[in-house]
Amino acid sequence: MNLRCQSCGADLVVAEELRTTVCPYCAAPSVVERPPSVDRPPPTFALGFAMTQPSAAERVKHWLRTRHPWSHSGLKKAPLQDVRGIYVPAYLYSALAQSEYSASIGENYTETETYTTTENGKTVTKTRTVTKTEWRSLSGEHAEYVPDVLVTASRGLTNVELEHLEPFDLRMLARYEPALVAGWIAEEPSLSREECLAMARQEAMEKVKRRLDAFMPGDSHRMQDVNTRLSAESLEVCLVPVWVLAARYDPEKPPLRVVVNGQSGEVHGEVPISWVKVALTVVAVAVLVLVVYLMNQGGRP
Ligand SMILES: [Zn+2]
Repeated sequence: MNLRCQSCGADLVVAEELRTTVCPYCAAPSVVERPPSVDRPPPTFALGFAMTQPSAAERVKHWLRTRHPWSHSGLKKAPLQDVRGIYVPAYLYSALAQSEYSASIGENYTETETYTTTENGKTVTKTRTVTKTEWRSLSGEHAEYVPDVLVTASRGLTNVELEHLEPFDLRMLARYEPALVAGWIAEEPSLSREECLAMARQEAMEKVKRRLDAFMPGDSHRMQDVNTRLSAESLEVCLVPVWVLAARYDPEKPPLRVVVNGQSGEVHGEVPISWVKVALTVVAVAVLVLVVYLMNQGGRP
C-alpha cells in the first residue's frame, strides 16, 4: 500500500501488514494513504540488506556508549525504539569530466642569508637558512571518468546523512526486482530528478576538484581557474538499505534519530551535547588554573 508522511514528505510503499501511522523517518504521526504514483519510473538498481536488525541494534548500542564524553549521559542506556529497515531511494550518477585548468605551482628552495643582530651590546653578523618558494604557472587539460556518485532522492533522509553512511559496496548492486523489497518499507523518490541531478553534479565537481588538487606537481599550488564540463552523464534510481531507529535518551526530549548503513553497519546521528557537563568541565579547568596560580604565588617571598 502507498503512504505519505505529511510532515517530512516521504512517499512510502509498505506491505499491508506493515501498515503504519507513524513515519519511520521523522516519527510524526501524520502518515496517510495516498494513491499510487503513476509517472514515477521503478528503481533500476537495489542493494540488499546485509545486516540483521539485532546486529544493527548492537552496533547502535556500542556507538551510543562510545560517544564524546560531553554527550548526554542518558545516551549510554537509551532504549532503542521503532527499529525499521527502509529501502531508501537514491540516485546513482556517473559522468565523464573534462577540465581545463591554470594554476601557480610553487617549488621550495633554501637559501643561506646573512643578517646582523646585537649580542651583549655588540653588533654581530650571522647566517641562517631560509625556505623560499618560486612560483611558475602551469595550465593544461585533465579528463577522467567520475563513477558512483550517490545522492539522496528521499525527503526522509538528507544527503548529508547519506554521506555519513557512505560508502555502500556498489559491487553488490543488483537489478531491482519487486521481490527484493517485499516485507520491507520502501520509499519512492520524493525529490525531483532535477534536484537530484543538481546535487550529483555538484558532488562530481567537488570530486574532480580534489582529484586535480592531488594531481598538481610542486610543493604547493594555487588554482587560478578551473573549467569542467560533464558529459556522458548517467542517472539511475537505486535503492539503498538503511536501518532507521530512535534512541529515547531523555523522557523529556524528542528521541535521537539514528541511521545505520544496512550493508556495512556504519552508524550516524546528531549526538546531543550535555551543557551541564560542558559547564562542569569549564569550572573544573578554571579551578585548576586558579590553584596552580595560587601555588606559584605562595612559593614567592
Ligand atoms: Zn516523516
